[in-house]
Amino acid sequence: MRLGLILLLLALALPAVLLAAPGERDPAAPAPPQPLPPVATSPPLPLPPVATATATATPTVTPEPPRSRAAGRPWRGRLVHGRQLPLSGDGYVTWDPIFKRAGNRPWRRWGTDRLVATLERVLGAYAARHPDAQPVLVGDLSRPRGRDFGPQFGGIGHASHQNGLDADVYYPRLDHRLRAPRRPSQVDRAAAQELVSAFVAEGAVYVFTGPSLGLRGPAGVVQELVNHDDHLHVRLRARG
Ligand SMILES: [Zn+2]
Repeated sequence: MRLGLILLLLALALPAVLLAAPGERDPAAPAPPQPLPPVATSPPLPLPPVATATATATPTVTPEPPRSRAAGRPWRGRLVHGRQLPLSGDGYVTWDPIFKRAGNRPWRRWGTDRLVATLERVLGAYAARHPDAQPVLVGDLSRPRGRDFGPQFGGIGHASHQNGLDADVYYPRLDHRLRAPRRPSQVDRAAAQELVSAFVAEGAVYVFTGPSLGLRGPAGVVQELVNHDDHLHVRLRARG
């Protein structure tokens, strides 16, 4: 037992002896442990710049869509970066004048930002004044990039509606049905006059109305025009 203990102690001491005197070690002995790789002593990598306080303090900003622009004239023009009037909104539902049904097709309801905002503001205010009224029907605006909106797109077509500044708005009906009026006798003229006056107050350059309805407004702005006994046509200025 004592010899075994001595041998064990020698075996435990042998590596320490070899380390202490590497030049004298037995060539058959295992190599001494290698030094740790330098990466363990390297300084920590710098944090990426995004983690700095300045960067995290900056809020994420969604880029605004480009502003719309009415190019050319309403009867010979185009619409740049137009905005689509939703299918329906506060106080209005769009109306397809060709299929004669609520919900106009998506490509027939594009305008400038200001035209869409004006329709939403006027018709939302009308609904607030008349909470029991049916939504007002909004017909065609312009095509997505404007340009010709003639009879090849259905019905008698539009001579204007080419640069996102024109919109058709159907007069409310006396019977409150959610359809475009077919005859002047079906038109709620008081409601129609209120809508005409509201668009004038918004700075419309023209509001065309039907010759059978006797609607009033500033001379030169509110004008009677054939084929407008079921709807008014509002045109905004190109600017301002
Ligand atoms: Zn029109």
